[in-house]
Amino acid sequence: MGVSETEAIVLRTYKLAEADKITVFLSQNSGVMRGVARGARRLKSKFGAALEPFTVISLSYFEKEGQELVAIRQAEILRSYFELSKNTEIVVALEYIGGLILEFTPPHEPNEKIFRMIRACVEAIASAPENIRHITRYCEVWLLKLAGFLPDLRACVNCKRPLGENRETAYLGTDGALRCDKCASYKLDLLLSCEATAHLRATQRLAPGDWARSVSSASETVLKELSQVTQRLITRALERLPRGRVAVE
Ligand SMILES: [Zn+2]
Repeated sequence: MGVSETEAIVLRTYKLAEADKITVFLSQNSGVMRGVARGARRLKSKFGAALEPFTVISLSYFEKEGQELVAIRQAEILRSYFELSKNTEIVVALEYIGGLILEFTPPHEPNEKIFRMIRACVEAIASAPENIRHITRYCEVWLLKLAGFLPDLRACVNCKRPLGENRETAYLGTDGALRCDKCASYKLDLLLSCEATAHLRATQRLAPGDWARSVSSASETVLKELSQVTQRLITRALERLPRGRVAVE
């Protein structure tokens, strides 16, 4: 409790009363947190553009025992992505990614991996905005993985045979597990080509920008499979369709 400092990524900002804002962050030291920025809506606010979505900031805040909202003392911009705010497709995708982070990350639980992954993803979007669809997929796979909802991508859950052997198709069941050609029950299973399974596995070893580049040469069929598999896994995890996803198909 008391004054703390951390690096943080702004996820959302809401208006509060006449002059203030509530900001939701993904912070390095304390995971997802919410804070009040007093006077942030005034023209000459000390926060300037620091509370814009996906800005990376150095945050100084005051925390009181038993209060969910922290008081934001200072927010200095470490990396601004203001240029991305002109691209509607990217704004929509970032809003969707922000929503997913809030769904999959419990508040006040620091997770260095998620913090670094999201930071790298936003940077990758800034350097290649045309890859927004692929980076969105990458974020989905990693958030599923870190929340424990990504199935084993290497072997059939049933017979343990390595998936993708002899270029055969894998199947994602309604239980969220992957099975080989022989063990799948077919009717309700989602088909995944050998290429799609290989791309999914590659998310675990490639940085977001590199993965997006490797996937950008994939066929529309494979891209659709990747989209369907994350959609099914997220829907299963949330027990409903993810909000705002249609826009980033
Ligand atoms: Zn099997």
